[in-house]
Amino acid sequence: MRFAILSDIHANLEALEAVLADARERRCSRFLCLGDVVGYNANPRECIERVRELDCPVVKGNHDEEATLSASSERFNELAERAIQWTRDNLGDQDKEWLRSLPLQKRVHDFTIVHATLDTPGQWGYVFSNLDAVASFTYQRTAVCFFGHTHVPMVFIRDQGVRQERTEHVRIEPAKKYFINAGSVGQPRDGNWRAAYCIYDIENNLVELVRVKYDLATAQKKISKAGLPQLLAERLAMGR
Ligand code: ZN
Repeated sequence: MRFAILSDIHANLEALEAVLADARERRCSRFLCLGDVVGYNANPRECIERVRELDCPVVKGNHDEEATLSASSERFNELAERAIQWTRDNLGDQDKEWLRSLPLQKRVHDFTIVHATLDTPGQWGYVFSNLDAVASFTYQRTAVCFFGHTHVPMVFIRDQGVRQERTEHVRIEPAKKYFINAGSVGQPRDGNWRAAYCIYDIENNLVELVRVKYDLATAQKKISKAGLPQLLAERLAMGR
């Protein structure tokens, strides 16, 4: 069984469609979504619709949560805040109800999915360092857990200690634990503009971190046309 693991789609429909097509081409039959379906880009409704059509496990991200609030929580920076206000105004009640219903973490098959961290999933902390990963590993009951939130694809491995790898292929070995960031479909921040996602091949114990080109110009035009901050269009091209 091959799972396609999608995180931080952030209302980027062009990136999402390119990733879904790529995953199907690579024989993925199951899909998973690690949250932040909305926020930043111009197609929140359409992205929710596509994800719901997949009828797959989805966990909640901080932008999903923020989009359902009636007033700002003041947790966001100015750019994210302007985008989430626009998102709130452009989502229907049913979209918000669905976002509100999402769980913070979920067990799927023999692994776990979460948006931010396993130690305090609702606090939306960022896992960049080995120390951050140690805290999460303490609560990880499965050998493999996929997470998102940082928009930077990254693999943490707990063996004797915890180490970090930036690699395209991870072989899942017995007696180790893996905390794997799937990167971001709709707003990568590792300096690479291409959409990121993961493939988990269960039978072969292999995780692949994949990058996919998409129609960046159209996504950028939609941001401008929607009246969202121009910086959100510019950063897509930089992968920041
Ligand atoms: Zn995000």
